[in-house]
Amino acid sequence: MARLDGKVALISGGARGMGESEARLFAQEGAAVVIGDILDTEGEAVATSINDAGGRCLYVHLDVRDEGEWQAAVAEAVSRFGSLDVLVNNAGIGSSPFPIHEEPVDLWDRTIDVNLKGVFLGTRSAIPAMLDAGGGSIINISSQLGIVGVPYSGAAYQTAKGGVRIFTKAAALQYAPRGIRVNSVHPGPIETDMTRAGRNDPERLEMMLSRIPMGRYGEPEEVANAVLYLASDEASFVTGSEVVVDGGWTAQ
Ligand code: NAD
Repeated sequence: MARLDGKVALISGGARGMGESEARLFAQEGAAVVIGDILDTEGEAVATSINDAGGRCLYVHLDVRDEGEWQAAVAEAVSRFGSLDVLVNNAGIGSSPFPIHEEPVDLWDRTIDVNLKGVFLGTRSAIPAMLDAGGGSIINISSQLGIVGVPYSGAAYQTAKGGVRIFTKAAALQYAPRGIRVNSVHPGPIETDMTRAGRNDPERLEMMLSRIPMGRYGEPEEVANAVLYLASDEASFVTGSEVVVDGGWTAQ
């Protein structure tokens, strides 16, 4: 028996990076997967490739800042696959490291809207369907920078990710009696498009590697494996927890 047999999962930001990796792994483990993203061409291609490999996957356009699009994505998951059991709030954007007194207010708002309000809207939209299904699992992708701060990454990003961490605990406590588990995952630096520019800058790369005790960036699959565990019934007594996948960053 596969680890997610019978489950239906919705993954935001699933068109590439860690979200894509989670979508592929979930499908291999028996889940029906709905990918929501704003990168329609890439998202459709991921869904086609999962279906061609024998999985079940559907792409929907979803801007996580839009409550109506969230509700449509949840409705599509339920109508196409019968229920919604797992939500991965994975979509996110980085932010330029302006000093706080120079940070453009619209950049602050955009960063918070995608990375924090998007998690609230996704959770808010998914919970009624999960209550209908008798329970569920919500996994919120935060960051190591939701636990510790650094001066060389945007304050808005770190604020949003810290907010995701405590939002997760508030939601876990509200819905623990009703069978919905809510956990956060805290990746460290991972090899995705989000970190490509930094990895291509030798000075930045060296600085980052010097801060990662394991001395390397993580692979998207190394995060997806933690997300898979939290999505599965193997984590049936795990809620409100923060799973760190950061090569040792926050242990320092
Ligand atoms: P990525 O840029 O490869 O993927 C992010 C995905 O989110 C993209 O497909 C993008 O189109 C989508 N997205 C962006 N804005 C969106 C919106 N408004 N609505 C819907 N989708 C949207 O990045 P990634 O590294 O795979 O990041 C995944 C998550 O992990 C993010 O939340 C990120 O903050 C977090 N994270 C990344 C790292 C890292 O080092 N890469 C570290 C810690 C946490």
